[in-house]
Amino acid sequence: MSSAVPGLSSRNHTEHGSVGKALPRPEVGSAVRMPTPEQVEMIERQNAALETASAEDILTWAIATYFPHFTMATGLGPEGCVIISMLAKIEPRVYIFNLDTGYQFRETLELRDRIAEKYGIEVDLQKPELSVEAYEAAHGGPMYQTNPDRCCFDRKVVVLQRVAKNYDAWATGIRRDQSPTRADTPIVRWDKKFGLVKISPLATWTKSDVWKRILHEKIPYNPLHDQGYPSIGCWPCTRSVTPGEDERAGRWTGKAKTECGLHTPGE
Ligand code: SF4
Repeated sequence: MSSAVPGLSSRNHTEHGSVGKALPRPEVGSAVRMPTPEQVEMIERQNAALETASAEDILTWAIATYFPHFTMATGLGPEGCVIISMLAKIEPRVYIFNLDTGYQFRETLELRDRIAEKYGIEVDLQKPELSVEAYEAAHGGPMYQTNPDRCCFDRKVVVLQRVAKNYDAWATGIRRDQSPTRADTPIVRWDKKFGLVKISPLATWTKSDVWKRILHEKIPYNPLHDQGYPSIGCWPCTRSVTPGEDERAGRWTGKAKTECGLHTPGE
């Protein structure tokens, strides 16, 4: 299994500048961490410095700065698979995890196995406290039908909060051109909701950039992408799209919801 290595010292400087100081560790049950003014200044400086850096250089900086307290969350979408392929070369010991809601497509879970075969990296499955059966029984049926915001909160956000407490920074595969809500995504920012630094190495990439890399390097990807599913989440909340539709149009169709809550700012 891929795992961070506690106690391994990170380097102090990179070509992109000095690194951040370790964040104060929260007490068990304490509130979400806040950065110091010094850390805020460092994040702003690094965000500006890395705006035109390659994704590999951004990840190299993140690892030099935060590893082993650097992690990556992935829904095993095309962007996540590209980042995993980069981490396999740069630092395969980074802890990579998937929020396994219990509602994922079989093809998504099989992709995890194909990634393990190709890169020797086992994406860890982080599950909610309650199984799907117990969760639906507790709420009188599927919450994705009656209250999808609550379902995403319970089965994704809470799980990420649990994992985030053990790390100082996390990487995600979001891109600015995926949707209007992601258009302002910085490369590096403080993530208020989860209390750690959030790094988006593919923020400036286009969908075409991602697929060129996947095809050029034969990176494993979800076969559902070849069946009209550009964006894949849980099966109850994902449909295929028709040509010309927005790439996230198949998520939560018929509902006002466009995000699961992982990438919307905290209060
Ligand atoms: Fe529940 Fe749908 Fe959110 Fe998955 S995407 S956690 S099924 S509401």
